Amino acid sequence: MIQDIQPHHYDNQYRQVPPDRESYVMYYEDHAVLARRTTEGIVFPRFRDLERLNEEIYEDCIYLFTIDEDRYYLVQGISREPLSEFTMENTEIFRSADPRYQCFAGITGYQLHNWYRNHKYCGRCGHLMKRDEKERMLCCEECGNMEYPKICPAVIIGLTDGNRLLMSKYAGGAYKKYALLAGFTEIGETVEETVRREVMEEVGLKVKNIRYYKSQPWSFSDTLLMGFYCDLDGGDHITLDREELALAEWFEREVIPDVTSHESLTNEMIMRFKNGEV
Ligand SMILES: [Zn+2]
Repeated sequence: MIQDIQPHHYDNQYRQVPPDRESYVMYYEDHAVLARRTTEGIVFPRFRDLERLNEEIYEDCIYLFTIDEDRYYLVQGISREPLSEFTMENTEIFRSADPRYQCFAGITGYQLHNWYRNHKYCGRCGHLMKRDEKERMLCCEECGNMEYPKICPAVIIGLTDGNRLLMSKYAGGAYKKYALLAGFTEIGETVEETVRREVMEEVGLKVKNIRYYKSQPWSFSDTLLMGFYCDLDGGDHITLDREELALAEWFEREVIPDVTSHESLTNEMIMRFKNGEV
């Protein structure tokens, strides 16, 4: 899955350590990241690639994380060489590009970029937020408001009925392949309750025997996904929520379409059922 980058090691402990010329620059604009495409995959710029036109980036950057020996820094604004081989690439490339560990770095940096961008000012009193030196936190010196990166829990639901798995397609949106039922946890709710509620809301079915499988950070949507399998409880007649879903149907194990991408928890859960491991 997208976070499985072994043998590389991701270290996200926050540190106040300055960049050097070999550190990576993570620069984003809206849904795009600065990178170079090569036959081996994407390459992020290092400080030495950008320093000529951007002397100030060594001071004006935010430490993100370290992978192996390489440090990654967020940079807010840069000037680019007119003929630079680095171009702005849509962050969707992180779903499938190589090398995989750099895609994980890219999407994790993107989540942090959005967080810093969306918390420039205090939501309580409107003053500028200041970066804390010891931890990844923004603080308002005026009113004391503290902000930490936001992570939204959500569930992925593998609803089974004997040899059948319920698969769905989302209404609207860009993702047109088969998926599993899913939804965000509401305030005041346990994740198990989210599973029951989402299945009832989206397809009008009851579930039992809810079992936790695995989790996955999914920075595309500030989410921590938690995968659960559960069994159908009672009748199998689907009442579709057409605002959320284009379709939902039961698939016998043998006819589940092969999933080519293994980046997402959803796909892993589908293939696990198809292969008879659930
Ligand atoms: Zn404030």
